[in-house]
Amino acid sequence: MNIYSNFYQGTTGPWEVVVGLEVHAQVNSKAKLFSGAATTFGADPNTQVSFVDAAMPGMLPVLNIYCVEQAVKTGLGLNAEINLISVFDRKNYFYADLPQGYQISQYTRPIVGKGHLDIELEDGSSRTIGITRLHLEQDAGKSMHDQHPDKSYIDLNRSGVALMEIVSEPDMRSAEEASAYVRKLRALVRCLGTCDGNMDQGSMRVDVNVSVRRPGGPLGTRAEIKNVNSIKYLAQSIEFETERQVEILEKGGEIQQETRLFDASQGITRAMRSKEHAPDYRYFPDPDLPPLVIEAAWVEEIRQSLPELPDAKKLRFITTYELSAYDASVLVSEGEIGTYFEEALHHLKPLTPKAAKLLANWLIGDVFGALNRDNKTIDSCPLSPAQLAGLINEIQAEVISGKIAKEVFALMWETSKDASSLIQEHGLQQISDDTAIQGTIDKILADNPAMVEEYKAGKDKLFGFFVGQVMKVMAGKANPELVNKLLKERLGR
Ligand code: ADP
Ligand code: MG
Repeated sequence: MNIYSNFYQGTTGPWEVVVGLEVHAQVNSKAKLFSGAATTFGADPNTQVSFVDAAMPGMLPVLNIYCVEQAVKTGLGLNAEINLISVFDRKNYFYADLPQGYQISQYTRPIVGKGHLDIELEDGSSRTIGITRLHLEQDAGKSMHDQHPDKSYIDLNRSGVALMEIVSEPDMRSAEEASAYVRKLRALVRCLGTCDGNMDQGSMRVDVNVSVRRPGGPLGTRAEIKNVNSIKYLAQSIEFETERQVEILEKGGEIQQETRLFDASQGITRAMRSKEHAPDYRYFPDPDLPPLVIEAAWVEEIRQSLPELPDAKKLRFITTYELSAYDASVLVSEGEIGTYFEEALHHLKPLTPKAAKLLANWLIGDVFGALNRDNKTIDSCPLSPAQLAGLINEIQAEVISGKIAKEVFALMWETSKDASSLIQEHGLQQISDDTAIQGTIDKILADNPAMVEEYKAGKDKLFGFFVGQVMKVMAGKANPELVNKLLKERLGR
């Protein structure tokens, strides 16, 4: 199945996939939402638990204003309304890792209301995805079933950690769009510093709501896939769920609204429980916490302090360096990549739009390709930004051709040496000396008199053959433009 086309072709006609995401983003805070306990990842079990987090009787929650500030920042980054009055509610349910018997969340009055996030797709188009809301809530503890043959253990370190739940409208129409949304959201929170965005450590988890419908028809019943923790699994779960639902509907069946789990080992989703509805939780305002009232002036102060956001940076890259929208969006997709690119830009001589475009191409194509191949990230890139710029400078100055540059790049990757010294060491300078090239041309033409006759008689295709021969004899180092020019002059056509 092609998950990147908008319609899924069933046996009875086309189906449209509809996706809405609920992203849980852990607030980048040293302390929990309502207690002073630490939040360090990977600490020994139950070493970061206050009496509040363990729900000892009589303990009272105290709101961590730093977490509120991060939620406001994120809301502003999502172009969303900030609600000056919001309310903390109790969401009641029983679970072994939830000692309070309820989770403190925000239900009817979240801190952040409607907003939007723009996403860029590979074909260069972009789409606007609606944000329904962002609310603050506590995380639950963790049940560990793999520590003992017949006992389950509970770790309360996570209990009470602040989460921002960011809910989207059902505006996405493919796995590609959902992936682009999560990537964009991750870039945003990382840029703002409000969440570290590390999906593999559980700092960002996604509940994926998927339904299918006839194109343009009413929304279908959805299934909700819980706690998906990578972009790859996100795409796989949407793909699997689409096929499953279409198959049921085409057989005349009905989709059950239910909660499902993604099984990464098999790439399938499995029913977990039938869906709870809001009344099941008996939400009510937490009597221990007064409504949260913030001042417009404070929100304004936060707005003024925001860093340059990915969209603004993207626009700057497009207008200043004439990059394509897609290239620019790739370069701002992760903070470190944008930083690497900008640092490299400073080392370009001269810094022209053409050089910047060349740099972007090398970064997105060759550097990303090599990083992927070697399972590395930009942080562990063997080439510094200055070194990559150095390679671009050699191309720009016509010291080497684009083709030889690939060779130099491979050597740089291996040795972490500068382009200029490798070019010297391996004698890879481009030959731009008329006499040397002229001499080779003479020799090639003298060696192939029959071909020269044919060319002169009108067989134009042979021109490429002569160019190829000259390049071959000169080990690919001749300046290709010069070879073309001199050959044309010499052959007189
Ligand atoms: P909950 O899952 O907590 O009951 P909501 O009813 O607000 O909450 O829906 C949560 C998510 O489900 C939202 O992201 C929304 O966009 C998405 N959603 C709602 N209806 C559909 C649908 N028919 N198909 C796909 N996603 C949907
Ligand atoms: Mg939900």
